[in-house]
Amino acid sequence: MIEKIKHSKKVINEAMNRHPKIALACSFGKDSMVLLHLALQLKPDMPIFTIMTPFKPRETFEFKDLVTKLWNLNIKEYIQKDNIGAEKEKLWLNNPEKCCEYFKVEPTIKAIDGLDAWITGLRNTEGETRKNFKEVEHKKIIKINPILDWTELDIWRYIAFNQIPVHPWYKNGYRSLGCEPCTAIIADDQSERSGRWQRTNKCGGECGIHTKI
Ligand code: SF4
Repeated sequence: MIEKIKHSKKVINEAMNRHPKIALACSFGKDSMVLLHLALQLKPDMPIFTIMTPFKPRETFEFKDLVTKLWNLNIKEYIQKDNIGAEKEKLWLNNPEKCCEYFKVEPTIKAIDGLDAWITGLRNTEGETRKNFKEVEHKKIIKINPILDWTELDIWRYIAFNQIPVHPWYKNGYRSLGCEPCTAIIADDQSERSGRWQRTNKCGGECGIHTKI
């Protein structure tokens, strides 16, 4: 565990030195909280961005505000919320792929515009769709995944040891958090992301932020 912490900090540090225009993507889920905690030790004013949607739980907005204040975050929020229209409001019901494209992927493209690199809290063991990601990826811009080899247990151990605040929904049994209509409680023996987009062909999959950008 100590080696993983050291390695993740080294990756973040090198990324910051190599890429002056860099920002950290934060969803305020458990992995993002660990990533934030590691990065802020190295750079307390680290530029951060968050992609919110009108469908995220009320508690996610509240938790974001709480952590922003508590940790004095240098953060920008991106959200599609103006003049959405009735059709897009219901997209998640019949076309989640298109819904994620509009509410998550498009704002992320705006968020990384002008950056050289971004840092994410991706982990290989979260689910099938994440097992082949690499620590450094050369995509639209450079993407750095410093906690890629952390397990779910590593994350919770680090959170407990450092008394890091966590989103209140984890206490209810959720293991991976997203928008409210597309997030379900799952059993311990299921894959971590299998509660996402249940009963759709995206079940356990990706919104597109990590696959299309
Ligand atoms: S997770 Fe669900 S509600 Fe959120 S953007 Fe994707 S389809 Fe829409």
